[in-house]
Amino acid sequence: MTIALIDANAFYCSAQILFEPWLRDSAVVVASNGDGCVVSRNDPAKALGIKMGQPVFELRDLEARNQVKIFSSNYSLYQSLSNRMMAILEEHSPRISPYSIDECFSWLDGIADPEAWGRQAQAQVMRRIGLPVGVGIGPTKTLAKLANWAAKRWKAKTGCVVLLTDPSRQEKLLRYAPVGEVWGIGRRLSARLESELSIKTAWQLANADPKLLRRYFSVYVERTARELCGIPCFPFGDTGPERKQQIISSRTFGEKIY
Ligand SMILES: [Mg+2]
Repeated sequence: MTIALIDANAFYCSAQILFEPWLRDSAVVVASNGDGCVVSRNDPAKALGIKMGQPVFELRDLEARNQVKIFSSNYSLYQSLSNRMMAILEEHSPRISPYSIDECFSWLDGIADPEAWGRQAQAQVMRRIGLPVGVGIGPTKTLAKLANWAAKRWKAKTGCVVLLTDPSRQEKLLRYAPVGEVWGIGRRLSARLESELSIKTAWQLANADPKLLRRYFSVYVERTARELCGIPCFPFGDTGPERKQQIISSRTFGEKIY
């Protein structure tokens, strides 16, 4: 099996920048409903130290000095761009499975050169709707997700496309990646994995005893470990490990906070 995960870079920010392209190299953030907290930030905003979930009032000084542009969220815009992105990917893939507003799995069975496919898909989305996307490709959904993480981490080196089908490349990345970066392993689970089983990296999770993982944690953690070994456990159309944890609520703060 060969699966790609296509994910827009800083999706909400990129969507806003489409209409104000002169902001492309400036720090941009998008605030949640009611302008409570940061729900999307681009690379220049990250470089300023702005965090996801950071209260917007903390950024008002930077905004006053023109160092960051803050947008209120516009979900109907994001949804329509998302629909167009999925439609483009559907045209170019044998099968797709949208995963979130800006992420989509594509099954690349029968595609001879998956990396070239990834670069073409990226170029198509850019040309037709102007959104930058990263593409991670691997033999399971979890490895495709991790490849996508690597694509974004080393944007300049990878051109935001990473093919993770070669076992020696898989090992290298798994040894490097903190376990908390693995799909479905959030901050809480990674803290428990470390304290209870001394698992700190994706590699250690992949090589842990599956029965132990099921007993101490859940069948999802066990399946995640198998997926890291290249054994598909989250089938097409299935959501994957505890999907709810993956979605960031736009209503972290219901009201303006001061
Ligand atoms: Mg994204």
